[in-house]
Amino acid sequence: FDLLLAQDPEMARVLLDEVDRLRGGLQLIASENLASPAVIAALGSTLTNKYAEGYPGRRYYGGCEVVDRAEEIAVHRAKELFGAEHANVQPHSGASANLAAYAALMRPGDTMLAMALPHGGHLTHGSKVNFSGRWFDVVAYGVRRDTETIDHDEVRDLALRHRPKLIVCGATAYPRLVDFAVFRGIADEIGAWLLADVAHTIGLVAGGAVPSPVPYADVVTFTTHKALRGPRGGGILCTAEVAARMDRAVFPFIQGGPMMHAIAAKAVAFGEAMRPEFRRYAGQVVANARALAEALAAEDMRPVSGGTDTHLALIDLRGLGVSGAAAERSCAAAKIILNRNAIPYDPEPPTVTSGIRLGTPCVTTQGMGVPEMKEIAAMVAGAVRDPGAVASIRDQVTRLTRGHPAYPRG
Ligand code: PLP
Repeated sequence: FDLLLAQDPEMARVLLDEVDRLRGGLQLIASENLASPAVIAALGSTLTNKYAEGYPGRRYYGGCEVVDRAEEIAVHRAKELFGAEHANVQPHSGASANLAAYAALMRPGDTMLAMALPHGGHLTHGSKVNFSGRWFDVVAYGVRRDTETIDHDEVRDLALRHRPKLIVCGATAYPRLVDFAVFRGIADEIGAWLLADVAHTIGLVAGGAVPSPVPYADVVTFTTHKALRGPRGGGILCTAEVAARMDRAVFPFIQGGPMMHAIAAKAVAFGEAMRPEFRRYAGQVVANARALAEALAAEDMRPVSGGTDTHLALIDLRGLGVSGAAAERSCAAAKIILNRNAIPYDPEPPTVTSGIRLGTPCVTTQGMGVPEMKEIAAMVAGAVRDPGAVASIRDQVTRLTRGHPAYPRG
């Protein structure tokens, strides 16, 4: 870092300011985490220099014998950690992993069945503004109005009626467990492929805090930078049956050279996730999310579906008469960083929304537990209810984060 500071103080300042921002506030974005210094060291390594199109032992460039080891270690650890027959660690992101998986299993114009974005699905699950909605014929399922949980009867009816080639389960803003066995049964009834996109929960799967989709899905796509606490990136786990076509879909179909520094960092994160401390971490992430959801419920901030089984809570703010956008702004002013989010059947447009989404991966990495979640809920409620109170709440945030710093000094 001293070298960067000497050569490019302008950019060094940006990096330092971001560390200060992380230290000075509460990061409650459900899709973020704080990667370890070891992960960041691998990311900032000379492996970024190497072109290595292809796969270990089958590259289109010379000099790959060292980076081959990085990818072999990453693949080996991913397969062991998740009990998968095959792993591809090259996707640059979760969206790339989905693009590759769709390319491997479908042709443009084929039908896929996935969760609607306004009910918690991801952009890549068929949104019109995304390649998935443009290139495939998308049928969307949602959650029930009464329970706000996935309507399996609707999924089955739509599957029987539209006969999709691929069914996608997994979501971006869904606080409950996905029943992979039920989805497998529906896919089997119509001979469809089943893809579980566990971008959000793969870290909880790694830590044994939620059930694994691996025994049920033909393909599992994931990101490495959310609850898993690795570098920004994606990955694919799949059965031996589709392994070769999955690899060909990643390279050469959608990507060129893999990012070997990111792959090394993914391997470091998989290694960290194999340790007993990570099991404790994943369990605590879920316990904290439950505690946060309960404490917010007590403040008239209703958790969608009544609570959470995962790392996130989706909160309906209509009881307080505050929009998601306004709540996001007040919380940010108090240095509590979270995002506005549509709730199922939201009457407000996506730029406004009636909800907010909060996640516990970062604050749990900082060593916070249930007592701190209760404090955080009170701070969030205070900021949302009364934007005039943000200055004093900001002081409370500073006190709390001093006791549990992100990236402790030294
Ligand atoms: N799939 C799901 C379910 C996600 O939640 C996300 C990101 O939030 C993605 C895919 C895409 O990941 P990325 O932002 O790395 O492309």
